[in-house]
Amino acid sequence: MGQLYIVPTPIGNLEDITLRAIRILKESDLLLAEDTRKTMILLKHYGIDKKMISHHQFNEHQTIRTIVEKVRNGLNIALVSDAGTPAISDPGYLLIRACLKEGLRIECLPGPTAFIPALVNSGIPADRFLFEGFLPHKKGRQTRLKELAEEMATLVFYESPYRLVKTLQQFREYFGEERQACVSRELTKIHEENQRGTLKGLVDFYQTRKIKGEIVIIVEGKK
Ligand code: SAM
Repeated sequence: MGQLYIVPTPIGNLEDITLRAIRILKESDLLLAEDTRKTMILLKHYGIDKKMISHHQFNEHQTIRTIVEKVRNGLNIALVSDAGTPAISDPGYLLIRACLKEGLRIECLPGPTAFIPALVNSGIPADRFLFEGFLPHKKGRQTRLKELAEEMATLVFYESPYRLVKTLQQFREYFGEERQACVSRELTKIHEENQRGTLKGLVDFYQTRKIKGEIVIIVEGKK
């Protein structure tokens, strides 16, 4: 029997990859990548030439059976995301569950994920946190915001630059304008920015700016 490796990849800076991740990518028989063109940039950087097939949220239901069969027949397969750790706001969970159900071996390497540096950079307590990822855009959003307003652990969100201001405005409305928060943009990249302040201050700061890049928002829990 082969096994499935879950391999975290850099969230910006290509140096943020472990020696073991590079070895597993080199030694695997097959790579499953969300976007093969994006993963190719990483593989080229490390001189890795490997067969890749695409595995993303729109085809994962169809491809899972074939992949499980390949692992059962002895192939070592590595799953990567475009960036960060698979299964963290990315495809992976369904495949992992299917492999475990069939008694196949899986192994997740430790490595980059965007919310850890954002949480640690924020200066907001990191002892207890709730990873929320992306909030629902429409249905269920208000209910979730009401529930989160009562949460005492630090809150961790992923957000797109286009929705940042609207989301911060809603946080201000539901969580109160004095709550401390931090917006981490473009972590590990040249234009990394960690903007800390109250929700009121952050709305004021971002609503007059053109916002680009990838974003994590950290909000302190209810006192
Ligand atoms: N699997 C990834 C992980 O382990 O963090 C997350 C994938 S999710 C589809 C992409 C989101 O992660 C982005 O929209 C952003 O919220 C966050 N993200 C990824 N890279 C980032 C970076 N360099 N700086 C800030 N946020 C980032």
